[in-house]
Amino acid sequence: MSEPVLPSERHSRSIYVRESAARSGRRVLVLGGTAEARALADTLTARGHHVTTSLAGRTRDPRLPAGEIRTGGFGGAEGLAAALHHVELLVDATHPFAARMTDHAAQAAAATGTPWVVLRRPGWVEQPGDRWVRVPTTGAAASALGDAARVFLAIGRQGVHHFGHLDTVRLVRAIEPPEVLPPHAHLILARGPFDPDDERALLAAHRIDAIVAKDSGGATEAKLVAAREAGVLVVLVDRPALPAGATVVADADRAAEWVER
Ligand code: NAP
Repeated sequence: MSEPVLPSERHSRSIYVRESAARSGRRVLVLGGTAEARALADTLTARGHHVTTSLAGRTRDPRLPAGEIRTGGFGGAEGLAAALHHVELLVDATHPFAARMTDHAAQAAAATGTPWVVLRRPGWVEQPGDRWVRVPTTGAAASALGDAARVFLAIGRQGVHHFGHLDTVRLVRAIEPPEVLPPHAHLILARGPFDPDDERALLAAHRIDAIVAKDSGGATEAKLVAAREAGVLVVLVDRPALPAGATVVADADRAAEWVER
């Protein structure tokens, strides 16, 4: 029978395990573009792992994490599979709506036998007082707006074209400008997370009666809080499904544990 482990001994063993993992330094590719991806790269780099974060290159001035950065598409699942030959582990920490990249990650990991995990923050959960309508795609959101007269599109740059014909869209917010803007829309270029007081003020200033948002989860929920308080309709776009067989963790700490396991 093994000796009982005293608390102090257990603590030093766990430090030893962590230090030896750090000494061996895993080579990890993180598919990024989210706050969680940055947190993970910072954590793993601080623990001595060799992290390369991959960015699509859509944002002109992205917030960068510790470790190496590579930018631009891989050239499909095959291109990603080629890149995986240089790493041991793959973490897909892309945005919940970056479905194509996630599918490519699943295919490339399977083709190369690379252990792979999806870091995906949980979606939002409806609260008392919410007026939510869930729709399966951004394209379906336009026809779920009912008689809303002053709509705020908070879906980012992509997908705005689905609303290009709607003169009820009064406000569009994105980090980068969309390719098309609905005829009466005011564009705000801004990067979240946003303050609930600012969101309340924004809804009031533009007399918004409906918001279209993606179920991104995480810290951009201030708009949902403001909508709840003001009785504003929220048309919430559901996340695309994950590839079959995906292992999912909910935050950067769990993903770091997975890397070191
Ligand atoms: P997507 O539709 O799933 O991906 C389209 C293509 O962009 C992919 O096939 C891939 O090109 C390239 N790509 C995407 N993410 C990449 C990454 N992290 N590194 C290298 N190449 C990448 O993705 P998306 O919705 O356009 O999102 C692009 C990026 O923005 C992602 O990194 C995502 O995390 C971030 N983001 C997206 C949203 C959103 O609402 N979709 C919101 C916030 C942030 P190849 O096939 O050539 O490899």
